[in-house]
Amino acid sequence: MAKHADITPAQEEGLLDARTASGAEWLARYSGALLNVFGTPQRVLVRGAGAVVWDADGKEYLDLLGGIAVNALGHAHPFVTSVISSQLATLGHVSNFFASPPQIALAEKLLDLSGAPEGSKVFFSNSGTEANEAAFKLARRNADGPDGPRRKILALEGAFHGRTMGALALTAKQAYREPFEPLPGGVEHLPFNDQDALRAAVDGQTAAVVLEPIQGEAGVRPLDPEYLRLARELCTEHGALLILDEVQTGVGRTGQWFAFQESGVLPDAMTLAKGLGGGFPIGALITFGEKVSALLNPGQHGTTFGGNPVATAAALATLHVIEQQGILAQVRATGERLARGLAAVPGVTDVRQRGLLIGIDLDADVAPAFVTAALDAGFILNAPGPHTLRLAPPLILSDAQADAFLGAFPGILSTAKAASAAE
Ligand SMILES: *Cc1c(COP(=O)(O)O)cnc(C)c1O
Repeated sequence: MAKHADITPAQEEGLLDARTASGAEWLARYSGALLNVFGTPQRVLVRGAGAVVWDADGKEYLDLLGGIAVNALGHAHPFVTSVISSQLATLGHVSNFFASPPQIALAEKLLDLSGAPEGSKVFFSNSGTEANEAAFKLARRNADGPDGPRRKILALEGAFHGRTMGALALTAKQAYREPFEPLPGGVEHLPFNDQDALRAAVDGQTAAVVLEPIQGEAGVRPLDPEYLRLARELCTEHGALLILDEVQTGVGRTGQWFAFQESGVLPDAMTLAKGLGGGFPIGALITFGEKVSALLNPGQHGTTFGGNPVATAAALATLHVIEQQGILAQVRATGERLARGLAAVPGVTDVRQRGLLIGIDLDADVAPAFVTAALDAGFILNAPGPHTLRLAPPLILSDAQADAFLGAFPGILSTAKAASAAE
């Protein structure tokens, strides 16, 4: 595709000189102005269309990360874009003193798609961490227990639930937690997929068990369906809430609307974000059933931006396209095609694939070098571990695009190994 011809209104007014500044110039300005919590960004991206993006120097990339499982319909999807801009041109923000039709319609749609029972409800946030923060408060409200107040919240080793203090307390990684202690108390982390440890830990003082059906940040590690079923049984038996963090796995990512649907287990609460808005920031907490939904009452939680008309319209449009165009079946097929191809590449030792969430283990600690070599070759992905790669591309990725990556993979891997050996 040729370079974008249109000049945007912001560029016309001289607010953005994306068409003249180079990537290196932008990055110098970045480090002069942005708080250094992310390290140096890999590239400065200026434009996208479908699963393809372009950087400030005009180089084209196949985006196999989708903004970390966010751009469900790729970049600049025409329908999503037009729904967002027409909503913004009609009514952009109202505060939660008022309601708006997109907010109500989206809540109804999410309850429908998740198979939530009568009395289930939705709270909208702006991000995944905020959705989990709301879930944490929900868990605190499940305090009445047979053995005194329920203060214990169980999560898993390897868990990632976000960066605000409550969500961080649920997150396992020491490097993320330690600089910010003390964190909200009561959270214990159990070994991953260990049924005996779970059986021993859930009791009458447990407020909630918080699980990702597939740990994305830990390198795409799926929980066994039996583990999820056991968690459901134990939570029901002891009156604890089963809270599923589907921030990364939800909204079609795994080829189901929600990953839990494969296990047949119904949670007490579920959090969503990433793919929900098709690239527009929005998160959600869904509370399943009347009793759980009654745990949070007026005045106990809130947000200014959460559930605003533009974000909820964006999500409504995203869900509509996924449904109307049969994208879930396409996700399963493209994901299997990629997994088959990847498993056949020498040097790949394991492929963990659910739909278009794919973890790839390599036979050497060259994953970061692979990411760099892939960028040079025109592919965006990331390395959640030293020998692990992750793909979370737009759900609309075509067979031809998947095949292009498969074709390039062996060459990128040998470049990465050579670069690592030369260090
Ligand atoms: C990304 C992620 C979060 C945090 O979401 P943000 O929108 O970055 O705050 C929480 N849980 C899981 C499973 C995630 O993948």
